[in-house]
Amino acid sequence: MNKVITLKERPSGKPDEKNFELKKEEKPALEDGEILLESKYISVDPYLRGRMRDEDSYITPFKLNEPLSSMVVAKIVESKNDEFQEGDHVSGMLQWKQFQKHTGEDLNKITNKKVPLSAYLGILGLTGLTAYLALKNIGKLKEGETLLVSGAAGAVGSVVGQIGKIKGCRVVGIAGTDEKIDHIKSDFGFDAGINYKTTEDMAKAIKEHCPDGVDVYFDNVGGEILDAAMQNINDFARIINCGAISIYNKEEVPKGMRLEGIMVKKRALMQGFIVRDHADEFQEAIKQLGSWLADDKLKFDETRREGFENVPKAFIEIFEGKNTGKMLVEV
Ligand code: NDP
Repeated sequence: MNKVITLKERPSGKPDEKNFELKKEEKPALEDGEILLESKYISVDPYLRGRMRDEDSYITPFKLNEPLSSMVVAKIVESKNDEFQEGDHVSGMLQWKQFQKHTGEDLNKITNKKVPLSAYLGILGLTGLTAYLALKNIGKLKEGETLLVSGAAGAVGSVVGQIGKIKGCRVVGIAGTDEKIDHIKSDFGFDAGINYKTTEDMAKAIKEHCPDGVDVYFDNVGGEILDAAMQNINDFARIINCGAISIYNKEEVPKGMRLEGIMVKKRALMQGFIVRDHADEFQEAIKQLGSWLADDKLKFDETRREGFENVPKAFIEIFEGKNTGKMLVEV
């Protein structure tokens, strides 16, 4: 039998394990031109929360009682397609199923055996690409500038900070525990870090740690941390709206500071970013990230949970800050 995880009900507020259902179904049989995939690593990501709402967005919502999907690294266990060989690995947007059949269309063949397979969900997957391409296209970092990043110990944030160091910037990270702050400084080379959970006045703390002001703010969290960052931006600052995890579970969007005064006064640029808009740059980005990895200029970490049935739990843990680096499930 095959295991499948479906969306049983749409979460209200923070997702709960009861919103998901583990079902059993027959293992699929192949037709000509198809391959059978066995999921090996499943990515859980904050943006999936948005797909659980019944709302139009840049990506379609999940349907109730149907399998969820995310980026998955899978092994080809049977092939009736000449382009795919049994035993090879692929990554792609796949369903939360232990086994699934596929035509192979839009799957990426994993050929580089030097990096672990799970890296294709993180540093060489969508989160690494997000860090690199958002900085390249919006951040446009210059040597000597100050880069501030929130969600700094997470999958995207930890790569953003390291790229900032490669570009010769002062890099300050914001994260939710003292252990995470120590980690980003000692393992990833950040110059300073701020624990937003124990800091009363975030605007003041950012000012202290960014004495020359903030040139680029890479925002993964939104909300009050964004407001605090905005009070410290320099002339011609670039603000990258990559994510807003602090509001993903809110049923009503919280009100915050008005930003137009600061934006005009500072002639700042604030731009939203969606990695899928930049598919034509993925190969170049993977090449650059791979080369920094090979030269040991870039490191990555991940938090692994084990067992297919723990995918919903791992997803929920992201909102509790339980991960450092990429959160994923080893099936
Ligand atoms: P992370 O690995 O950073 O995990 C999420 C982290 O967010 C948690 O570990 C937690 O760390 C922090 N967090 C959770 N709740 C809150 C809160 N209420 N306030 C502040 N921080 C919180 O996830 P990713 O790296 O995968 O994603 C980071 C952001 O980037 C997300 O907002 C995501 O949606 C976005 N994203 C956007 C993409 C795009 O194309 N635009 C692509 C990929 C990701 P802590 O302990 O520090 O609180």
